[in-house]
Amino acid sequence: MRVIMLGAPGAGKGTMSALMEKKYGIVQISTGDILRAEVKAETDLGLKASEFMNRGDLVPDDIILGMMKNRLQKNDCSGGFILDGFPRTLKQAEDLGMMLERLGMGLDAVINLEVPEDLLIRRLTSRRTCSNPSCQAVYNIYTMPPKKEGVCDICGAEIIQREDETEEVIRKRLATYNEKTAPLIRYYSGYDVFFSVPCLEAGETMDKIVERF
Ligand code: ADP
Ligand code: ZN
Repeated sequence: MRVIMLGAPGAGKGTMSALMEKKYGIVQISTGDILRAEVKAETDLGLKASEFMNRGDLVPDDIILGMMKNRLQKNDCSGGFILDGFPRTLKQAEDLGMMLERLGMGLDAVINLEVPEDLLIRRLTSRRTCSNPSCQAVYNIYTMPPKKEGVCDICGAEIIQREDETEEVIRKRLATYNEKTAPLIRYYSGYDVFFSVPCLEAGETMDKIVERF
């Protein structure tokens, strides 16, 4: 099964992708997670990307497309995948379409998660993330705090507020989404595997997604 997960920052792409990974046994590929691991490891790619990420801009298409071309050819993708946070521009969507065609891979679903903007802002400012790049577990100071304050339940590393999750950068990320990524809804709405689903509560959203398969 091959799935694209669309949605604004804070819509729940990561949460829903993780649930689908568990339920269907397909690999979750998050461009945000890959980029943050590169930043943490201080690779050339990471150093270049962090400038854009820290001010709420998108990382340039050529960087992302090179990265994803490699990723989609890895062995673990043969059983299917969920793309979480990619594509994010029309150029990325068009190039992904060509990559998949070349690899002989069709899409089984393009899922658009819908959340009102005020809720997105509330979710993003209350989000905390595990600082361990190979964990990156996500918490919420109100609805899903870690058992011990500031410490990851899973790996014991410190939990932090991402540099791109201050209110100012969040507003910029939402503006970037509206300008560059929201047009993908129109782009994919012509596909018969496209559907939208409200994402207010993870369990309910998962039930609605499962119904479609
Ligand atoms: P969110 O979806 O909550 O904004 P992500 O973890 O998916 O967060 O992405 C964090 C940042 O990484 C984005 O703000 C952007 O700078 C960069 N990024 C992630 N995926 C892409 C992509 N496909 N194209 C360009 N930039 C990306
Ligand atoms: Zn952790």
